Amino acid sequence: MNNKLTAAERKHLQRVKSLPCSVCNSPPPSAAHHINQGQQYTTVALCYDCHQGTMGWHGTKALWRIRKMDQLDALNETIRRLIEDGYQVERSDTKDF
Ligand SMILES: [Zn+2]
Ligand SMILES: [Zn+2]
Repeated sequence: MNNKLTAAERKHLQRVKSLPCSVCNSPPPSAAHHINQGQQYTTVALCYDCHQGTMGWHGTKALWRIRKMDQLDALNETIRRLIEDGYQVERSDTKDF
Protein backbone atom coordinates (compact mmCIF):
# COMPACT_ATOMS: atom_id res chain seq x y z
CA MET A 1 0.00 0.00 0.00
CA ASN A 2 1.12 3.51 -0.74
CA ASN A 3 1.74 5.26 2.56
CA LYS A 4 2.91 8.53 1.10
CA LEU A 5 0.60 11.36 2.03
CA THR A 6 0.23 14.60 0.18
CA ALA A 7 0.81 17.83 2.09
CA ALA A 8 -2.94 18.51 2.02
CA GLU A 9 -3.69 15.05 3.44
CA ARG A 10 -1.17 15.57 6.24
CA LYS A 11 -2.73 18.92 7.05
CA HIS A 12 -6.19 17.36 7.10
CA LEU A 13 -5.04 14.64 9.50
CA GLN A 14 -3.57 17.26 11.83
CA ARG A 15 -6.91 19.07 11.85
CA VAL A 16 -8.80 15.86 12.62
CA LYS A 17 -6.42 15.09 15.49
CA SER A 18 -6.96 18.56 16.93
CA LEU A 19 -10.72 17.88 17.36
CA PRO A 20 -12.45 16.42 20.44
CA CYS A 21 -13.51 12.76 20.25
CA SER A 22 -16.43 12.45 17.82
CA VAL A 23 -18.09 9.78 19.98
CA CYS A 24 -17.69 10.96 23.60
CA ASN A 25 -16.34 14.54 23.26
CA SER A 26 -13.14 13.91 25.21
CA PRO A 27 -10.78 16.84 24.64
CA PRO A 28 -8.05 16.69 21.97
CA PRO A 29 -5.58 15.52 20.87
CA SER A 30 -7.48 12.67 19.28
CA ALA A 31 -6.38 9.85 17.02
CA ALA A 32 -7.46 9.81 13.38
CA HIS A 33 -9.32 6.52 12.86
CA HIS A 34 -9.34 5.37 9.24
CA ILE A 35 -12.71 3.98 8.13
CA ASN A 36 -10.98 2.69 4.98
CA GLN A 37 -7.25 2.18 5.20
CA GLY A 38 -5.30 4.59 3.04
CA GLN A 39 -8.20 7.08 2.72
CA GLN A 40 -7.38 10.21 4.67
CA TYR A 41 -10.57 12.19 4.13
CA THR A 42 -12.82 9.64 5.80
CA THR A 43 -10.88 9.64 9.08
CA VAL A 44 -12.68 10.12 12.39
CA ALA A 45 -11.39 11.95 15.48
CA LEU A 46 -11.41 9.48 18.39
CA CYS A 47 -10.05 9.40 21.96
CA TYR A 48 -8.04 6.38 23.04
CA ASP A 49 -11.00 4.73 24.81
CA CYS A 50 -13.40 5.04 21.87
CA HIS A 51 -10.68 4.00 19.44
CA GLN A 52 -8.34 1.33 20.78
CA GLY A 53 -9.68 0.84 24.29
CA THR A 54 -11.33 -2.46 25.27
CA MET A 55 -14.79 -0.98 24.64
CA GLY A 56 -13.68 1.06 21.61
CA TRP A 57 -14.12 0.51 17.89
CA HIS A 58 -11.24 -1.95 17.69
CA GLY A 59 -12.55 -3.71 20.80
CA THR A 60 -16.10 -4.61 21.81
CA LYS A 61 -17.53 -1.29 20.48
CA ALA A 62 -19.59 -0.99 23.70
CA LEU A 63 -18.92 2.76 23.95
CA TRP A 64 -20.29 3.17 20.43
CA ARG A 65 -23.38 1.04 21.09
CA ILE A 66 -24.24 3.07 24.21
CA ARG A 67 -24.40 6.18 22.03
CA LYS A 68 -26.01 4.33 19.12
CA MET A 69 -23.25 5.45 16.79
CA ASP A 70 -21.54 3.82 13.84
CA GLN A 71 -18.54 5.01 11.85
CA LEU A 72 -20.62 7.23 9.55
CA ASP A 73 -22.29 8.94 12.52
CA ALA A 74 -18.85 9.67 13.93
CA LEU A 75 -17.52 10.81 10.55
CA ASN A 76 -20.45 13.20 10.24
CA GLU A 77 -19.54 14.67 13.64
CA THR A 78 -15.87 15.02 12.65
CA ILE A 79 -16.79 16.80 9.39
CA ARG A 80 -19.38 18.99 11.14
CA ARG A 81 -16.74 20.21 13.57
CA LEU A 82 -14.18 20.81 10.82
CA ILE A 83 -16.65 22.89 8.83
CA GLU A 84 -18.06 24.77 11.81
CA ASP A 85 -14.50 25.57 12.91
CA GLY A 86 -14.07 27.32 9.56
CA TYR A 87 -12.37 24.70 7.45
CA GLN A 88 -10.32 26.40 4.76
CA VAL A 89 -10.00 24.56 1.48
CA GLU A 90 -6.97 25.64 -0.46
CA ARG A 91 -7.75 25.83 -4.12
CA SER A 92 -5.11 25.44 -6.73
CA ASP A 93 -7.35 26.86 -9.41
CA THR A 94 -9.50 29.94 -9.50
CA LYS A 95 -12.58 30.18 -11.59
CA ASP A 96 -14.19 33.30 -12.94
CA PHE A 97 -17.92 33.25 -13.46
ZN1 LIG B 1 -14.16 9.05 22.98
ZN1 LIG C 1 -8.77 2.87 14.07
